[in-house]
Parts: sequence; structure tokens; C-alpha cells
Amino acid sequence: MTNRGECLFCGGRDVRPVNAYGPRCLRGDYKIAGGSAENVFCMRCGLGWNCLMMNEFALATFYAGYEKKTDDAQEDDLLFSASDAEAQTLTDNQLEFLLPFVDSHQGTVLDVGCGKGSFLRALKMQRGGWRYVGVEPSREEADLARRDGGIEIHQGMFGETALPAGTFDLVTIMHVLEHVPDPRATIAEIHRVLAPDGLLFVEVPNPTDLNMFYDWLLVEHLYHFPPNTLAWFLMRAGFEIVAVVPSTSYGALRIAARKRSTPAAAAALPAANGMAGSVSAWTALWQRMTALAAEGAALIDRGRRVALFGAGMTAATWLVYTELHGRDLTGCFDESRWKIGRSFFGVPVRPLAELDGAADTILIATMPNSQALVQSKLEPWRRSGIDVRALAVAQPA
Ligand SMILES: [Zn+2]
Repeated sequence: MTNRGECLFCGGRDVRPVNAYGPRCLRGDYKIAGGSAENVFCMRCGLGWNCLMMNEFALATFYAGYEKKTDDAQEDDLLFSASDAEAQTLTDNQLEFLLPFVDSHQGTVLDVGCGKGSFLRALKMQRGGWRYVGVEPSREEADLARRDGGIEIHQGMFGETALPAGTFDLVTIMHVLEHVPDPRATIAEIHRVLAPDGLLFVEVPNPTDLNMFYDWLLVEHLYHFPPNTLAWFLMRAGFEIVAVVPSTSYGALRIAARKRSTPAAAAALPAANGMAGSVSAWTALWQRMTALAAEGAALIDRGRRVALFGAGMTAATWLVYTELHGRDLTGCFDESRWKIGRSFFGVPVRPLAELDGAADTILIATMPNSQALVQSKLEPWRRSGIDVRALAVAQPA
């Protein structure tokens, strides 16, 4: 178990703080958990980690109870382009990247942490004739994934599921590696179950992208991988890097890599200096966010009717960690039909059409790269007299 003292990836001992929070913590399934986090990073290679991480037993229990708000496969799977608000699902976006590397029309795929099986189902639509296998620790999600008869689901923690060596032509692990207690062991197990020249597709939050600022605020995100650090680690683990996308539109890092039987020549340790700058930028952004939330709380105290725009991760971090926690907001206004009508940390999610007369002030609670788009959407309400407040944080080049 990694602790404050030594980096799991490179053994570096120059460990610097990022942030700390608790005893109220945000979970990725939009729930509040008890506990605490103390995030640090390694000055030598850039790896970040929570040095108060949960032990393996606690993690298995935590994920067995993980749940989703609905069983709709697309509920939390929708992306919006910042330019034209055109919708695409996350799985389609991932497949668009991945399929050019998958030339075979027959094979075996394993999705580690497959959730409700959305990705395996989408792959099956595009590449029928494969064998589709998923491992998922959440009982509820595993049951949902099993509804599709053509998909084989193992409920449990990856690594405790007995999978034969050298079996899979493709292993996908998306938004999972940051959750595991020992990413070295997880990557080694993936290497073991992959066939020779088999393809690995990994996607994790990019902790150096401010649009993924909440990566440092989710209690079950135990590790944080800057792009060069993860690529270096995969090479050392016996993979050849095929493609890297350092940051998607939503701040994720993607890597496609092939299993090689002989390790590549020792890759150079990435310089971690960039991580220190990213942590400073993160701290400045989070200070701006907490200040904006505090402005909202002060307005509520003065009897104003305050709302948020957004019912996603940004709004969630504000409602859990800032002075807006437990405050009487008039609503979270959002455009997603999967969110409208639900309760979000006790705040009703309402459509924009209901904003007239419902609020005096609206705070834009979305990730930095969509603030301007939302400001333009809210322009008619601003002109009608609603006080619209945004972050005004510039993205670093
Ligand atoms: Zn390190």
C-alpha cells in the first residue's frame, strides 16, 4: 500500500501535497461518503495518489454497493461538444478512437469495470462475432449488464476473477485504473490475460487538465496519472504505445498499447515539473470555484433566490464541499433529459424553461471549457434581469 513516503511507480521520495478533504466526501455515483482524502504527487515522475486510500476489503464493499440513478444505458453517457452542443455518447466517442486499431472481425474482448455493459453492447453493434466478457464489482450494475444475453459478466474484483492467461485480443479499462488499490498489479494482470500482440485501451482522468478538476475531489480516485507518467509506466510493464490522446474534450487521457513479449528498451522517466504547475493551476481554479459558491451562499443569506446551471460533477463538488452544502437553492437548471425531474443532493433539477421568475441569481456550475457556451445560452435571462455569474477562469494554453 502506497503511503505519503514513497511513489509506487518510481520510488521517488520527494512527495508534495495537492489537497485534502473530509469527513464529507463526494463519490462518483453522485453520493456523499464519509472518510477523508489527502492527495499528493511525486516530484520525480508526476504520479498522484491519495495517501489515505481505502484498503482492498473496504473497496470491494464500497463498489459492491455502487449504484446508478437509472438503468438507462445512456443516463450518464452523453457528451456535448462545446462548439455546437451536438450530442454524442461517450461510448461512441471511445469506439471512434479505438476501432481503427481493431482490424479483426473475430476475437475476444474483456472490459475491466464494465459497469452496465454500455461499451460492450456498443462494440457488439459495430463488431458482431466477437466474444464479449466483462468484469464488474457492483452487483446492481453486473445484473444490468447481464440483461444482454450475448455478454459474459463476472461479478467481482478484477484479479480475483480467474481468467486464463493469453486469452484476450482486446482489453479495455476505462475510468477504472484510478480506482484500484494497486495499478501495478492491475496492469500486470491485464498483460497476463492479453494474447501476444493483444491491444490494451486505457482511459483515465487527466489530472493536469482543469476540465477534469474534480479528479482531485472524488474520494475513490486513489491515483492520478499525468499522460507521460502513465505511458512510461505501460512501457515498463511490457507494452508498446500505439496512440496517445492526452486530453479529450472532457479532460480524459486515452492510450492504446500493444502487449510485447520482450520489454521495450528502458523508457526515460518523464519529467514531473509540469505536475507542480498543474497543481498550482488546480488550486487557483478551486479557490475561484469556492469563492463563487460562497458568493451564492451569502446571497441566499440575504434572501435572494439562487440557482445553479448544471447538475453534473462541477455542481456536485460545490454542493458537497463548499458553503453551498445544505443551502436552500431554488434548483439546478440543466438540459439533460436524464437529469431533469430528479433530485440532486436534495436540490431539484429543473429545465431552463422554468428559470423565468424562479431565481434572481444563477451561478454557472460547469467545467471551465463550457462556461462561455453556457453564458451565451443564459444571455436572454441576463438581459431580462437575472444576475448570471460565471467563473472567469482562463484555460492555460
Ligand atoms: Zn514517482
